[in-house]
Amino acid sequence: MKKQVVEIKDIDKQYYESELKDFLPKEIIDIHTHVYYAKFRAEKRESHNVTWTQLVAKENPIEDIKETYKAMFPGKNVTPVIFSNLSSKNDDFEKGNNYIKECSEKHNYPALYFARPTESAKKIEEKLIKENFSGLKVYLSLSDASISSEDITIFDFLPHHQLEVLNKHNAIAMLHIPRSGRLKDPINLEQMLIIEERYPKVKLIIAHIGRAYCTEDMGDAFERLSVTENMLFDFSANTNEHVFEELIKRVGPKRILFGSDLPITRMRMRRECENGKYINIVPPGLYGDTSKDPNMREVTPEEGEKLSFFLYEEIAAFKRAAKKLNLTRQDIEDIFYNNAKRIL
Ligand SMILES: [Zn+2]
Repeated sequence: MKKQVVEIKDIDKQYYESELKDFLPKEIIDIHTHVYYAKFRAEKRESHNVTWTQLVAKENPIEDIKETYKAMFPGKNVTPVIFSNLSSKNDDFEKGNNYIKECSEKHNYPALYFARPTESAKKIEEKLIKENFSGLKVYLSLSDASISSEDITIFDFLPHHQLEVLNKHNAIAMLHIPRSGRLKDPINLEQMLIIEERYPKVKLIIAHIGRAYCTEDMGDAFERLSVTENMLFDFSANTNEHVFEELIKRVGPKRILFGSDLPITRMRMRRECENGKYINIVPPGLYGDTSKDPNMREVTPEEGEKLSFFLYEEIAAFKRAAKKLNLTRQDIEDIFYNNAKRIL
């Protein structure tokens, strides 16, 4: 018998019933999901990013994401925007992207093409026009190897020639911003503002609210971004209620998008911030050896029993921010469905 994709415990059921079920609209678009097989990813990888992400799910075929929604959001109708998970230059980009294209056609899900910065404008245009991709997903580790990881900037992996094509076709750019300063980093902010001004028709989505997982990551970012009218923010894999409040206040409900970042958010955890750094509080033994990972901390087995899903934590934190700022039912429906529908 096939192993269950997600195990739903009583605590999860209670969490969903009491906190999330009535808050979530029936129709949902999840703007940020990774769908892929492990076989598309190279064994030999040049980057050593945080390792816990690999431990939650080795792969996430389309059947698994459907099953995840069914188990985690009973009674809701969730449409994912799908893209691959290719962060090494040795990964098989052709197979990874073709699989997304097949799934998109078969299940009628919108899809993003996972692009490398070296790909020509002509090739990108073909992907949008002939293959019906709604835009691009890009990633920092695909930048030229001569640039050291702390020096990578947005245009190193989302180059101007690709932005021009996206602008011409009103397409999406799903952007996980680089740099250890995260959202408040001045070079990130400067380049985000250049994209906003120079490519006004690009639907630029700043993933995870620019990786502002802790309050300290915001700095004066929202003041500097107050001039923007186009760029959007997904709050996937973020559980920071205070960051959500600032986002809602400064950006307004029309440019915020719900995203899950599945499969990673199937993880059992609760997130805390300590001295401006995030820590995932996890049950003991569930995600391998966490002793060398400063972003992970195990709790006692009893405490671990009380932990539910990362994704539930994300939505519950957003709900608290939304309540505090008196968002309306319409605002919630915009954030979880209509805003995504509008840009797709
Ligand atoms: Zn992601």
